[in-house]
Amino acid sequence: MEIKITKTQTPGQKPDQSNLGFGKIFTDHMFEMEYTEGIGWHDAKIVPVHNLSLHPACMVFHYGQEMFEGLKAYRGKDGKVRLFRPDMNAKRTNNTNDRLCIPNIPVEDFVEAVKAVVKVDEDWIPTADGTSLYIRPFIIATDEFLGVAPSKTYKFMIILSPSGAYYASGLAPVGIWIEDEYVRAVKGGIGFAKTGGNYAASLAAQVKAHDDGYSQVLWLDGVERKYIEEVGAMNIFFKIDGKIVTPELNGSILPGVTRDSVIQLCKKMGLPVEERKISAEELIAAQKAGKLEECFGSGTAAVISPVGKLRYKDDVMLINNNEIGPVSQKLYDTITGIQWGKIEDDMGWTVEVK
Ligand SMILES: *Cc1c(COP(=O)(O)O)cnc(C)c1O
Repeated sequence: MEIKITKTQTPGQKPDQSNLGFGKIFTDHMFEMEYTEGIGWHDAKIVPVHNLSLHPACMVFHYGQEMFEGLKAYRGKDGKVRLFRPDMNAKRTNNTNDRLCIPNIPVEDFVEAVKAVVKVDEDWIPTADGTSLYIRPFIIATDEFLGVAPSKTYKFMIILSPSGAYYASGLAPVGIWIEDEYVRAVKGGIGFAKTGGNYAASLAAQVKAHDDGYSQVLWLDGVERKYIEEVGAMNIFFKIDGKIVTPELNGSILPGVTRDSVIQLCKKMGLPVEERKISAEELIAAQKAGKLEECFGSGTAAVISPVGKLRYKDDVMLINNNEIGPVSQKLYDTITGIQWGKIEDDMGWTVEVK
């Protein structure tokens, strides 16, 4: 793939690294590529970040044909810039695209585009402990047409956002609300796809959970409203009686890259891992019997997010005394150690941006 690079004449001011937050600051450049039926993906370029000019009839605005990804670039103490398993994001892009009738992007081209734009803006990768450069690839349908059909033209873009340490002072356990009214996805739907519609559908429950003092929603299955699925933007793990248990990928759960990494690392650490159905009732029983030892979410943003409190209807389960458990801490240290090049990557997960 040939990528034409045009650099900005007016570079922006680099932000204060102690106050980056998440998703609010953007770098100088972006990647863009167009799709036209009969031609395929074309005109790959890196250009100064700019506003888009789109006709109001563009299909993405009306029927939501769009997808996105999320990954990060990390600046190690050795000065090297690493990506974490970007091929997984490329493959997931195409799984999402297949479901939404968006044309595939070759895995090599996706990874090359990510590397190229990160390279151009590498001075924006923050260096303070725990910080990283969040990478947001996304595709929108651009046909100017109000009919419901797959678009014949698309735009693929990548924008970059320096992001702060997720945990300012160590891994802090969060409280999670098991949602028993709204559902996120059903088998046969788009739950496994990374697309905006899933998030639009999640907002009402999120607002409700926040109003009750919980930071995120844990979804139940959409049919029986019985089995645990996942958190807002994280997969979920439990340690029950010495075993690591996580919901199986059933078509309505997003297959997280971090989820896959956690499973592989747990197996390597000799911990038994079960991917299966887990009901909310099973959790309550385990907690009452003192066997719900740990609970944590997994996702690119927070890596590992310990859960100290789970609410389900009238039950509030306190987990590990609202403190981070040893397996959660070990997984966090191992994954972030690999990402920042502090420990040897014997899994072959990191890709250097040179
Ligand atoms: C992105 C996402 C995740 C986490 O996936 P990672 O690849 O680990 O970042 C989990 N659930 C949902 C709904 C997501 O969108």
